[in-house]
Amino acid sequence: MDYGVKIGAQEEYPTIKKVPKNIVITHAHLDHAAYLPHLFRKERKTNVYMTKPTRDLIQLMIADYMRVSKNDFDNGKVLNNILRNCRITDYGTVVDAGVKFSLHNSGHIMGSASVLVHNPKGNLLYTSDFSTRTSRIMDPAEMGLTAKTAIVESTYGGKNDVLPSNKELGEKLVKVVNGTLKKNGRLLIPSFAVGRGQELVLMLDSYMRGGLIEPAPIYIDGMIKKALHIFRHDVIYAKKELQHSILVSDVDPFKSRYVFVPQSRDRRDAIEEGSIIITTSGMLKGGPVMTYLRELAGDKRNTLMFVGYQAPGTPGRRIMDGEKSVRIRGQEVKLKMNIETLKMSAHADHNGLVQYLNNVKGLEKVFIVHGEERKRKELEESLDKKYEVFLPKVGEEYEV
Ligand SMILES: [Zn+2]
Ligand SMILES: [Zn+2]
Repeated sequence: MDYGVKIGAQEEYPTIKKVPKNIVITHAHLDHAAYLPHLFRKERKTNVYMTKPTRDLIQLMIADYMRVSKNDFDNGKVLNNILRNCRITDYGTVVDAGVKFSLHNSGHIMGSASVLVHNPKGNLLYTSDFSTRTSRIMDPAEMGLTAKTAIVESTYGGKNDVLPSNKELGEKLVKVVNGTLKKNGRLLIPSFAVGRGQELVLMLDSYMRGGLIEPAPIYIDGMIKKALHIFRHDVIYAKKELQHSILVSDVDPFKSRYVFVPQSRDRRDAIEEGSIIITTSGMLKGGPVMTYLRELAGDKRNTLMFVGYQAPGTPGRRIMDGEKSVRIRGQEVKLKMNIETLKMSAHADHNGLVQYLNNVKGLEKVFIVHGEERKRKELEESLDKKYEVFLPKVGEEYEV
């Protein structure tokens, strides 16, 4: 279940050396899928199960991963090898791959899934990344599954990880956008390519159409635009209200009239006064956002707004923690622009995690993964004492 790469100062790869016959990829993020190109450098027969949106999105993500990778991949060949082995499966369908399993909406990004492994002696649930609240695009994770053992993520497992409501998020976004545009400043939003960027486009489009924000050009870059197309194409995986609005009321936020793609190579057109720019990478570790940041950092009318998790050690995290300059392509750049944070999340927060687990029927054992050490511990402390809880380390084996 999942074959990701940990992208940090040094890339870290899965430590299991034996290549399995069957793999399930839960969603298109690199920490869950980016080892596939390593595995499929050569042709091999391994079934890779995933939903259709994940199949569509990983092509984009993996192509980009290979482009920036230090390993040299034969990109076309590798992608072909992966796609030939993809086995598309839908939510709720029981697949027999030697063991029986089914995928269930995890509400994280389009096509994202939790994996339920069926076993008469007790099911195993791997939550993968999940969200318990509705977003502009997705329904929340399916709750109430039956499992004796759960492997649960803990990105926001810390006791103080309380995320604002959708209403509070909306109000803050409106305030930051209006405050910046009133000064003729530009709003720069570093974002992940898949998920957050599209959510933001839909939020901004809706506020502009509703008159809460003055219409302003929203610039998005290549990856975010391509993923937006895929989301529209696979809209059957989006929540019903969104499908309904596209089909019945002719309002298609995926084709917003406020959205533009910069045309010039140096992206000068996108930094006109009063523009909004949503671009990668989300933690300021390279990508087009650095070009914009260099241009916009020195003007205090402008705003840099973080909208996602900033991992320790990243430039994004340092700025969020108060650093007033940033290194861009070898140059130290002073930050005079406003810094704002909008606590958007595609992950369950502390209470969401606890609540989700309490809704699993017949749960006895909980393995906490996918989170900083302190957050795993704090989540463990908050769980009902009736569960046997484990904080596994890399390489440890358990029998369930
Ligand atoms: Zn994810
Ligand atoms: Zn993840």
